[in-house]
Amino acid sequence: MTNKQLAQAFKLTGSLLELHDENPFKVRSYTGTATRLENLNEIAAQLSQKQLVELGFSKNMSEKIFSLLENGSFKELDELTVQTPTGVFEMLGIKGLGAKKVRVIWQELEIETIKDLYEATQNGSLEKTKGFGKKTAENIANQIEFLEKQEGKQRINIAFQYSDYILSNLSNQDFIEKISAAGQVKRHEPIIDTISFVSVLKEGNTSRELFQFLNNLDGISFDAKNSSPFLWKGTFDEIDLKLEIHLTEKENYYGKLLRESSTLSHLNYSTNNPNHLDASLLAVSYQNANSEEEIYQKIGSKFIPYPQRNGLHEWKWIKENNQSDLLELQDLKGTIHNHSTYSDGQNSIEQMALAAKALGHSYLVISDHSQSAFYANGLNKERVQQQWKEIEELNQKLAPFRIFKGIESDILNDGSLDYDENTLKGFEVVIASVHSVLGMSEEKATERLLKAIQNPYTKILGHPTGRLLLRREGYPIDHKKIIDACAENNVAIEINANPHRLDLDWKWIDYAMQKSIWLCISPDAHSTEGLKDTQWGVRVAQKGGLLKKKTLNTLSVEEFESWTKS
Ligand SMILES: [Zn+2]
Ligand SMILES: [Zn+2]
Repeated sequence: MTNKQLAQAFKLTGSLLELHDENPFKVRSYTGTATRLENLNEIAAQLSQKQLVELGFSKNMSEKIFSLLENGSFKELDELTVQTPTGVFEMLGIKGLGAKKVRVIWQELEIETIKDLYEATQNGSLEKTKGFGKKTAENIANQIEFLEKQEGKQRINIAFQYSDYILSNLSNQDFIEKISAAGQVKRHEPIIDTISFVSVLKEGNTSRELFQFLNNLDGISFDAKNSSPFLWKGTFDEIDLKLEIHLTEKENYYGKLLRESSTLSHLNYSTNNPNHLDASLLAVSYQNANSEEEIYQKIGSKFIPYPQRNGLHEWKWIKENNQSDLLELQDLKGTIHNHSTYSDGQNSIEQMALAAKALGHSYLVISDHSQSAFYANGLNKERVQQQWKEIEELNQKLAPFRIFKGIESDILNDGSLDYDENTLKGFEVVIASVHSVLGMSEEKATERLLKAIQNPYTKILGHPTGRLLLRREGYPIDHKKIIDACAENNVAIEINANPHRLDLDWKWIDYAMQKSIWLCISPDAHSTEGLKDTQWGVRVAQKGGLLKKKTLNTLSVEEFESWTKS
């Protein structure tokens, strides 16, 4: 468990205590522990109880930290969870509903399910309740509608874990001749509801062996009603996610894999090229073939990489480029947009630099939060100076590895950046991002971003829409206007690689490349572990056909340095 996860458990306990109207001092001892854990420079899991007490944790709270590390919970949290109806517990997850409001809903309105809460937003009873009002009721209704739409879906990083689990269990079984992931996982979809595979069994085996094996495998359940001898369907037990395993004959394997890993609009493509079959990809996929390349050849095309089989820009892309031009993780030479303990990160600048180096990078942009981000311990001018000094010393020590002085500057409500000109001048990389007042019309949001893009100190636009996948829709923006402005002002756009964000959305990569702007893959790492999130950004960028030559952090350290001065 990371410090952040530990802190979340204490925060939750605090909320539950508040929900049950417990003594405010007791509530504060838990929320205070959460804050202390968040601000801790050391990794709690590596400390002894004595060390925790020396760092200011009470004996009682340090025992609970130990219990969390060992058992994933502690007694009070378990008891509170049991005493709280599931629906009420879920209400705590609705944005804008703190424990106090949930308590009113539960105790005064006697509502215990999300469904009944939604009803109360529609029939007017919630807005008449003291402390709510029309606007709050509307927001809650929108949130519930949004959350309902996300049911049964998972983010890419979670889905990949479950896909790997199935693949690692199946691939070494005697009865399997061939197996490959397919579907949404193979296409690197940011949001996934079904994990699917295509497999061929070894001669002499029937689907019975496979079905028996799957029925005995931990963590999944068989959906007999919707399965057939050539299709095993089921679900995962601990997570809302479906699983499908398609069986096929050896000679049909490549066609089946192609069909199962492409969208329908990709499959419906036909060339109308007189030298080739005037047939759709779907039609030719049913002919025997020894590879997927062969199937694409039949309609006069080169092989299309799996992530790009979306039915959007791939056919144009493959005419102009080769598969080897597509960005891969190992092409990245530096990591941009990273936090340290100066703001809300968990590791020191030096630890971040060493971890980036170990991942094969030759430079790191540290971009902590700016002064308005008080919730994230943003840096005032004095602490910026202090950080620059530390970076200069580390650059001496770690050369040729290079740390760049960056900042993730809040874009304030009026579109201005968060420091005076003198301070802004001193940064090598200013990433401008919106973190507050997210409820905006498209016009307002676009204007706010445009002003930040036009600021001569802005080098990179951070997570352009502020979306949190499966949790919060981004504010609406006019993507074309924003991308055009970035082109005019020599501002790069990040593809934030945190699997919650993946923002800029991949569908806009093609347009951004047409406008010749730089895109960068940014992990937005808040710990050394977070640096590895870069992989999700790369995977999703591949969907949009992001080329190596259009990716800012494929530049060498010297090239990147001269870009910072451009
Ligand atoms: Zn940010
Ligand atoms: Zn950030």
